[in-house]
Amino acid sequence: CGIVAYVGDKVAYPILIKGLQRLEYRGYDSAGVALINSDIHTYKCLGKVKDLETHAKGKHLSGTIGMGHTRWATHGEPNDTNAHPHTSMNGKFTLVHNGIIENYAHLKKELELRGYVFQSETDTEVLVNLIENIYQEQKVDAEIAVRLALSKVIGAYGLVISCTEEKEQLIAARKGSPLVIGVGDHEYYLASDASPIVEYTDQVIYMNDEDVAIITKDDLILKNIQNDAQKPKIQKVELTI
Ligand code: GLU
Repeated sequence: CGIVAYVGDKVAYPILIKGLQRLEYRGYDSAGVALINSDIHTYKCLGKVKDLETHAKGKHLSGTIGMGHTRWATHGEPNDTNAHPHTSMNGKFTLVHNGIIENYAHLKKELELRGYVFQSETDTEVLVNLIENIYQEQKVDAEIAVRLALSKVIGAYGLVISCTEEKEQLIAARKGSPLVIGVGDHEYYLASDASPIVEYTDQVIYMNDEDVAIITKDDLILKNIQNDAQKPKIQKVELTI
């Protein structure tokens, strides 16, 4: 039910944890983070952000790129496996998702016919594998694979996605579920609402439905699912703390 992500020079983990705590008011049953540097480390569990901190304590927590999630289960019971982030079968893509993939059962069947095996009961794991399948079969960039996958999806989503082949970037997309980009100095923040962002920057971009953002610490490209360029409208945040 909440998403936080960071790309920049700071250590991501504390920013993600603090951000998830700011989103706790939205309600959730489990929480998780993925931290990206030369490898990707994912920690997730049933329970509160505090439980996630206990679970992650003493583990590999470096990385200046990362994503965090609080889950309000819609497909699959609340448990450690169904918690986000989810990683695709061949490990190429990791993502967090808010919302519902309504046609997940149909997409899942198609992927199973192609040999995909699923760990969780979530609709989200179907999407991450659909992206990977398109990426590997069509040999396209991560961003193109994401847009092609989203063009097959019926439902609502706020998404932050990482690809192991393009580690320095995060891809964000939304339809139905909100997503805000915070614009810092050689850094970007992403969150479901501005509350995790305001202590770092007051410059934000409210993503529109069907927007896709390709973000590195020095660059933001905004387009829509159909690949039309969108002009990022940076505005002063509407929220105060
Ligand atoms: N539908 C997804 C799930 O059940 C995401 C739920 C959410 O928005 O937190 O895992």
